[in-house]
Amino acid sequence: MLSNDESIRGLVEKCLGVEKVKLDSKGFTLVELLAVLVILGILAGIAIPSVFRLIEKAEADACHVSTAEIDRMYETYLAIESIDHTDMRFSQFLKDHVENTGSNHGEISYVEGRVQCSIHSNAEEHEYEQEDDEEVPFL
Ligand SMILES: [Zn+2]
Repeated sequence: MLSNDESIRGLVEKCLGVEKVKLDSKGFTLVELLAVLVILGILAGIAIPSVFRLIEKAEADACHVSTAEIDRMYETYLAIESIDHTDMRFSQFLKDHVENTGSNHGEISYVEGRVQCSIHSNAEEHEYEQEDDEEVPFL
């Protein structure tokens, strides 16, 4: 039993000794902490804008899908009822058939035979226009 107690004490002392050594080498200097903070700041500065860009693109894609869906439904509605488009009919159609156009979207409107979101559709059109302008010189 004695030998057991001694060996346990020895173990505890060893552990404490190791812990002391660990404690002594623990902790960062202020410069090391500042360096880590600066690196994290730089990484965040790179990552956050690209994340926001991804979110914007995802919202625009979702908007494109939902406006296309509304467009299809509205065209079908006009065809079934054998009526022509008016702004009044379109806003009534939105009220009756479209529950939620999303809080991140602008006003849904029907312009030149297409359903458009006042935020996303216009931006997309500008992109397409720019692409067309770039392509013209090569033809
Ligand atoms: Zn939208």
